[in-house]
Amino acid sequence: MSNSLSQMTPAEIAASLNLKPFQGKQIFRWIHQKRVFDFDRMSDLSKDLRARLAEGFSANQLELVRVSASPRSEGTRKALFRLADGETVESVLIQDRERSTICLSTQVGCAVKCSFCATGMSGYSRNLTPGEIVEQALYLLRDEEMGERTPNIVFMGMGEPFRNYDATVAAIHLLMNPDGLGIGARKITVSTVGEIKGIERFSQEDWQVRLSVSLHAANDATRTKLIPLNKKYPLDVLLAAVRAYVERTGRQVTFEWTLLDGVNDSRKDAQELIDVVRTVKASVNLIPYNPVAGLGFNPPPLERCEAFRDALVNAGVTATLRKERGQDIDAACGQLRRQHVELAS
Ligand code: SF4
Repeated sequence: MSNSLSQMTPAEIAASLNLKPFQGKQIFRWIHQKRVFDFDRMSDLSKDLRARLAEGFSANQLELVRVSASPRSEGTRKALFRLADGETVESVLIQDRERSTICLSTQVGCAVKCSFCATGMSGYSRNLTPGEIVEQALYLLRDEEMGERTPNIVFMGMGEPFRNYDATVAAIHLLMNPDGLGIGARKITVSTVGEIKGIERFSQEDWQVRLSVSLHAANDATRTKLIPLNKKYPLDVLLAAVRAYVERTGRQVTFEWTLLDGVNDSRKDAQELIDVVRTVKASVNLIPYNPVAGLGFNPPPLERCEAFRDALVNAGVTATLRKERGQDIDAACGQLRRQHVELAS
């Protein structure tokens, strides 16, 4: 796995093979720009170099197991990958007329165990390497002509990115590399459920990558039921860290709020959220829940979702109600993998 080139920068590729810098760039471009993993197809490399690559290296670490396209949510595709050790992860590409968004996983499973999440149910196996993270995007974009339209990247798939901080940051640098996908920092968002140390470290990164915080509730009792980590880092601690992040970086954060029927969708819940946003420079992203069998949560009816959004907007909060996408292909994080693991066992 250490010989996988997908997680190396052009300079690291050149150093590993004792090549000139331009040759490191050539190989990096084949993998990241042209999404070609077969050394034989890297036509501007010498035959000798291709043979050396084939002998001691691999271009990629993931194997694509299957892609589910959605007949109803046109443009939504979910991919399941097998890792070299047999573990599996998944990621999603959501496309509409205006933009493409790729949702990447950073861990196999997740130890945070949010009560509404399919990934949390499966438990935690291990962290992904930077190459395993980046390759999810490379595969999903393999057949795409990107042209001028680079995708948005969100780290909101399986896992808590700040529990795999170094690999997440390394993957972001690979995604931004101009000899690769060249994705602008502002088009990349890392989402945390509230890992305080990660938020602090993230505030020290010298870039414009965005931060989003999954809030889901603005009182400790409800939030602890949804996100057990809230016991360790209750709302006042989390919000102090978010305020410090905003102060240090000058950047706005986004609060993610998954709307759950009868749990966090009342007028009172909206008011609590409004009170929080008045103290932090943040916008709000509302996402109707994508049901997971066996967890006992449902999305609210559309009118209640809209009423929740309207309450925020009327109070001067910038809030967007996302269309829930991909319900028919189980696009909520962790569901495809869960089915796969259950089928295999
Ligand atoms: S919602 Fe995110 S942090 Fe919570 S269990 Fe699922 S993957 Fe982990």
